[in-house]
Amino acid sequence: MIQLCVLGSGSSGNCSYISDGQSALLLDAGFSAKEIFRRMKEVGLDPGDLRGIVISHEHSDHVKGAGVVSRKLDIPVYINSPTYSKIKNVIGEIKQLINFETGSTFALNGISVNPFSISHDCADPCAFVFEHDATRLGFVTDSGYVTTLIKEKLKGVDYLVIESNHDPEVLKAGPYPWALKQRIASRSGHLSNEASAELVGNILHSDLQGVTFAHLSKTNNNPHLVDVTARSVLEQGGTPFCVASQDTPGGMITVK
Ligand SMILES: [Zn+2]
Ligand SMILES: [Zn+2]
Repeated sequence: MIQLCVLGSGSSGNCSYISDGQSALLLDAGFSAKEIFRRMKEVGLDPGDLRGIVISHEHSDHVKGAGVVSRKLDIPVYINSPTYSKIKNVIGEIKQLINFETGSTFALNGISVNPFSISHDCADPCAFVFEHDATRLGFVTDSGYVTTLIKEKLKGVDYLVIESNHDPEVLKAGPYPWALKQRIASRSGHLSNEASAELVGNILHSDLQGVTFAHLSKTNNNPHLVDVTARSVLEQGGTPFCVASQDTPGGMITVK
């Protein structure tokens, strides 16, 4: 069994709580520590259960509170070294730093964590498969495109969190400067609603318990568009899905 609560997701901050029922971890800490603790309290989660913070990549919407949370709770930060070298002067002293290798599975208490490479404009970006007692949770955000490795890793997962960042038409017509539009749509940018839905269609199987669409852009997307695209792939099989919010923690999801 794995429990998941997306405490918030989007271009201004990402943080998720993942637990095996005994101990828990945070995947990314892209809000201030105060805000992370506030959100945890709001959904009845105890920061005292946290045994570590796992970092996907160095962008501030993923690391902002990592240093303070780690120091306050005296818990380790799990990070690959190219990512750490980018943020060591930003997040303050980390007493317990544990370097993982992208591509190598490690244990964080009872949870097995498998970080794997994705394409994004930073040092060594990772997506993850978390596993406990043969229950597997796939978690992919901040990926420019869907690689063969992503499809391979997500095969047979019991639950999936997947980025659905932008609608290409809304992005094109929107207010962002041309260069930024190019970056978002590029192969080292972010997944569009279509790319995300196509991936879900690709890995869909009868035991998939649900999908959370995450990391929506406030400017270049809206939950309704994600809902329409998601329905097109998921409605027929009846697989439940939800859309993660930037501002409000989602409910606790239990994956078996
Ligand atoms: Zn991000
Ligand atoms: Zn990013």
